[in-house]
Amino acid sequence: MNLWLLAQVEPVWLAAIKGAELGFRVAIIEKGIIGGTCVNIGCIPSKTLIKMAKTKCIFEKQPFSAITAKSISFSWPKVLQQKDNLVNKLRKSKYKEVITSNENIILLRGTANFIDKQTIAVAGRKITAENALTNSNKVLDLTVLPQVIFTEPQVATIGVTE
Ligand SMILES: Cc1cc2nc3c(=O)[nH]c(=O)nc-3n(C[C@H](O)[C@H](O)[C@H](O)COP(=O)(O)OP(=O)(O)OC[C@H]3O[C@@H](n4cnc5c(N)ncnc54)[C@H](O)[C@@H]3O)c2cc1C
Repeated sequence: MNLWLLAQVEPVWLAAIKGAELGFRVAIIEKGIIGGTCVNIGCIPSKTLIKMAKTKCIFEKQPFSAITAKSISFSWPKVLQQKDNLVNKLRKSKYKEVITSNENIILLRGTANFIDKQTIAVAGRKITAENALTNSNKVLDLTVLPQVIFTEPQVATIGVTE
């Protein structure tokens, strides 16, 4: 059975599941906190904070005289607490859903270093992996690459031109 090596990232969870489905043994290697950028410091925390700020703003700046309400309270420590709770929950659920529920996926803690194209050293171990990309004929299609600018309103584009 071949072994896939993956640096631990948000999309990696899907890749790990797919790899296991295809019959590979998958090693997710993480030197830091499980979850990657998206869960820990990227998509999830930023969208939580943006959504909370937007909700506050809509409430305070809405222009309709027909809508009135008493003043709202806003607690920055509670904002951070709710964001942290969500991040912690997602870290745990990803760990449970992917790693503990699939015997073909393992998590290795430590910093990975490439020794050569197919060999990685991590935590005193050497792991040889099939390079998933070299045996595939798939080509990266940048014409469907999306991007988003988180202004208000948000702007999204897809493809290589504006
Ligand atoms: C503020 C912010 C907001 C974002 N919002 C969105 C959004 O709304 N939607 C969206 O689609 N994307 C968003 N992104 C982008 C998204 O988070 C990244 O595109 C995605 O996480 C990138 O994944 P990655 O695989 O490149 O690396 P990462 O998610 O950064 O994962 C790399 C992981 O590998 C580990 N690692 C690195 N080197 C080694 C090593 N040598 N050995 C062991 N482990 C290692 C790191 O600790 C890390 O956990 C946002 C990013 C940021 C910063």
